Amino acid sequence: KLKVGVLALQGAFIEHIHILQRLPQVSLAIPVRNTDQLSLVDALIIPGGESTTIALVAERSGLLEPLREFVRSKPTWGTCAGMILLANEVTQVKEGGQKLLGGLDITVTRNKFGSQIDSFEAPLHIQHVTTKAENDDDIYSLFPAVFIRAPVISQINSPDVKVIARLEHSIGDTDASTIVAVRQDHLLATAFHPELTKDDRMHQYFVNLALESLGKRRKVA
Ligand code: GLN
Repeated sequence: KLKVGVLALQGAFIEHIHILQRLPQVSLAIPVRNTDQLSLVDALIIPGGESTTIALVAERSGLLEPLREFVRSKPTWGTCAGMILLANEVTQVKEGGQKLLGGLDITVTRNKFGSQIDSFEAPLHIQHVTTKAENDDDIYSLFPAVFIRAPVISQINSPDVKVIARLEHSIGDTDASTIVAVRQDHLLATAFHPELTKDDRMHQYFVNLALESLGKRRKVA
């Protein structure tokens, strides 16, 4: 059984906790606001919200270093703003820069769809999460992905990073395929907000990933 924390400094954390509480493999789902709470959990979700605010509050609460430490070895999933914080590199930051936790060898571009569309929902095929339907006329049981002032993964900087979902869309007249979900070892990142839908398959995927990577670590130790 897995103890999961959700970083609760700002943003959409309650929704993540509600979904986690429904999953049979999760024995504890708690908000994390300090190092004591962080030390209770095996895995962490960093929610969507405003990445600059989350980083600022984390710094003020003395959580920045403990979080960096956690992310280095323990399963962590960043959604939207959380994905920005898990990136090693971010473009389109305001002056003064932005504190990151890092861990994922990706470059993220903030507010990618911002100027055109603020938020939208798109059906996505996600590797290992959505499955091709057996008979249903060759369609996927697609995941309803909600994007809100979403960042995108503009560059993959290591072969260890596995792309698990792309969004096919158009920019003007040209078709584009943008990376919106990746996995690298014990780290997971999605540009969208799976906690805002009733679909818990993405959470289930993260819990399995976490149990698997913690199991491996125990064997090595
Ligand atoms: N635009 C936000 C940021 O840059 C992310 C939006 C979100 O998490 N929904 O931090």
